[in-house]
Amino acid sequence: MRNKSIIAEAQQIQFAVEMIQLGARLQLLQEETSLSRERLLKLYKEVTGRSPSKGMLPYSTDWFISWQPNIHSSLFMGIYQFLAKNASLLSDLELLIKSYRLYLEQIGVSGNEPILSITRAWFLIRFLDANMLQLTPCTACNGHFVVHTNELYKEYVCGICRPPSRAGKTRRLAAQPSSFPEPPCKIT
Ligand SMILES: [Zn+2]
Repeated sequence: MRNKSIIAEAQQIQFAVEMIQLGARLQLLQEETSLSRERLLKLYKEVTGRSPSKGMLPYSTDWFISWQPNIHSSLFMGIYQFLAKNASLLSDLELLIKSYRLYLEQIGVSGNEPILSITRAWFLIRFLDANMLQLTPCTACNGHFVVHTNELYKEYVCGICRPPSRAGKTRRLAAQPSSFPEPPCKIT
């Protein structure tokens, strides 16, 4: 940080604190900020009162395809892409933080628990950038959903329009309020 201005560093710290509060893993902060590992470690302990988890990061693309995670991931990507298109002045990190906050808000409004962590949301964006995952429209509701790249989805129907039978007892995502930019799926 020797050549960086104090203001720039303060901003990095502010972003890091926000990310930690949203549950981001330390590795993600190292990747996304220019702060040293030592400073991030200190910051992490100060914000959460504990040491960061040392477990493996969730690298698999399969998680995003399973039923409920897919609905949450697709909802998040809908918000992310809307913001990326309409708030072009945001930095990548601001975009992630803002999209994730909106995702939490949206899930809260529908009375569901968030399933997608900010660390997974970060991976999701990277998997889409790397073309390992892509978005495909549901032929029933026209919402866009996360799928594996290079698989054929001619008549794709999403997990909201055609939930698996075991989903009967689980509450579905409730109808989206009008404030939501581009709902990935209309619920009828
Ligand atoms: Zn659908």
